[in-house]
Amino acid sequence: MPENNFARIDASVEEDYKCSRCGSIFDKDGQDEAQCPVCGNVCTPQTCRVLNASKEGF
Ligand SMILES: [Zn+2]
Repeated sequence: MPENNFARIDASVEEDYKCSRCGSIFDKDGQDEAQCPVCGNVCTPQTCRVLNASKEGF
């Protein structure tokens, strides 16, 4: 059994927020609410655009 396999599952999908106020893109770190490091705006899936950076494509 290769032990490397399960580490890949966690990292397969990364989601970023694009701030609705200043437009900067930052890592939301798996949370629904994340504060923009640039302007302090609190982003949620309803207020900010979610960018899916999946490495597997679609
Ligand atoms: Zn911002």
